[in-house]
Amino acid sequence: MSRPVVCIVGRPNVGKSTLFNKLAGRRISITEDTPGITRDRIYAEGEWLNNYYTIIDTGGLDPRSDDIFMSNIRKQVQVAIDTADIILFVVDGLEGITQTDIEIANLLRKSGKPILLVVNKIDTKKELIHFYDFFELGFENINYISAEASLGIGDLLDEIIKNFPKDSDPITYKDAIRVAFIGRPNSGKSSLVNYILGEERNIVTDIPGTTRDAIDSYFEYKDDKFILVDTAGLRKKKYIDEKIERYSVIRTLTTIDRSDVCVLVIDGTIGITEQDSKIAGYAHDNGKAMIIAVNKWDIVQKDDKSYKEYEKSIRETLGFIQYAPILFISAKTGKRVDKLLDTINLVYLNYIKRISTGKLNDIINEAVLMNQPPSDKGKRGKIYYATQVSVKPPRFVIFVNYKELIHFSYARYLENQIRLNCDFTGTPIILEFREKG
Ligand code: GDP
Ligand code: GDP
Repeated sequence: MSRPVVCIVGRPNVGKSTLFNKLAGRRISITEDTPGITRDRIYAEGEWLNNYYTIIDTGGLDPRSDDIFMSNIRKQVQVAIDTADIILFVVDGLEGITQTDIEIANLLRKSGKPILLVVNKIDTKKELIHFYDFFELGFENINYISAEASLGIGDLLDEIIKNFPKDSDPITYKDAIRVAFIGRPNSGKSSLVNYILGEERNIVTDIPGTTRDAIDSYFEYKDDKFILVDTAGLRKKKYIDEKIERYSVIRTLTTIDRSDVCVLVIDGTIGITEQDSKIAGYAHDNGKAMIIAVNKWDIVQKDDKSYKEYEKSIRETLGFIQYAPILFISAKTGKRVDKLLDTINLVYLNYIKRISTGKLNDIINEAVLMNQPPSDKGKRGKIYYATQVSVKPPRFVIFVNYKELIHFSYARYLENQIRLNCDFTGTPIILEFREKG
């Protein structure tokens, strides 16, 4: 479910980005034509012994800033304190303690977050001479590593995992649909949350996070249970220091990570912006179900053709999420907000849908009859059988004789055939081709 967030802080040149690259083992896959924010190497997924986490290098946050040195670092530390479940405070073991280290330590100590002090650049034992000096910084948990030579990384990861927060989700929330409202500032996300929670819903409960200050809201509507992820961030305005643009990006990314269904809230008076595309690209890359809500429809100038035209232009701009339904709503008047909740539920059911191996193979066989897999240099592509291996999103493994013969366009054809025969509105589906001798 919710992945713990690990933030790296420290003054420049101590080795933060080197460490980040070691911990960011698994690259998030990026579809070629998807605008993804994940390309910026400040945010990535990591895994250690089947424990998954998100890793953030706060040092990469604002590299072009003209801010004076210390105020810049102070901001980065604040981002870490607000976002992280665990903070890695990196210092330079060759240089020893500096005044800046002491100032960072003072800021971190007040945060109450678990902090692992990481003494870097200990490439050999003889560099340990300064190690004991670092106890002066007042942290109990001290580790030494060489990020460059990959020494001590395993032990550090063991420590990180030991400090993971215990899952805060009480059992009763287990089958609730986790929804995130995403989109650029001022598109109306807060208004939407307030409208939904302000209407008479069965129960509205705040679910505080363990260490992070993300507060989610639980409510029931008809027979369905919903959790609005990171509601506090939306309800408490100006919570985010808007000057650090990347900070709000990170906040959005962690919110997306923790959700099942993402509702991309568009300002209908403006249309899709570059920022909206990036955010949608990230949700898509991470296999989230998605809905596009064109908000402020109450004040958009419209005639009979408006819906169709608007829809067409969205489909053109956000070509990679053709599966997302589009709704025209108003968070102000509440128009079609109930329809939005119904759609979230429908999309979620598709997100967790399983189709039987029998039915799936009927669809694939039929598709192959109509359009054979490509051949190349005397090799004939052949599909043996397919099976669904998981949900959230639905993932299918298709066994073939030669993987390289299944080009993107043929894979797309098969996906379309599956979608024609089975309703997967709102969810990405993933086809994975495997060779079988
Ligand atoms: P950042 O500014 O904190 O992100 O630091 P970088 O990761 O860019 O590293 C700063 C410099 O320290 C680079 O020249 C790295 O090659 C070097 N460095 C990083 N880790 C180690 C290490 O474990 N040992 C040594 N000797 N040098 C390192
Ligand atoms: P957020 O930054 O995405 O959370 O956006 P807000 O909810 O703060 O909304 C930004 C502005 O748009 C506020 O002035 C809202 O009152 C206004 N707004 C939000 N939704 C609607 C809507 O459906 N119709 C109209 N007319 N204004 C809206």
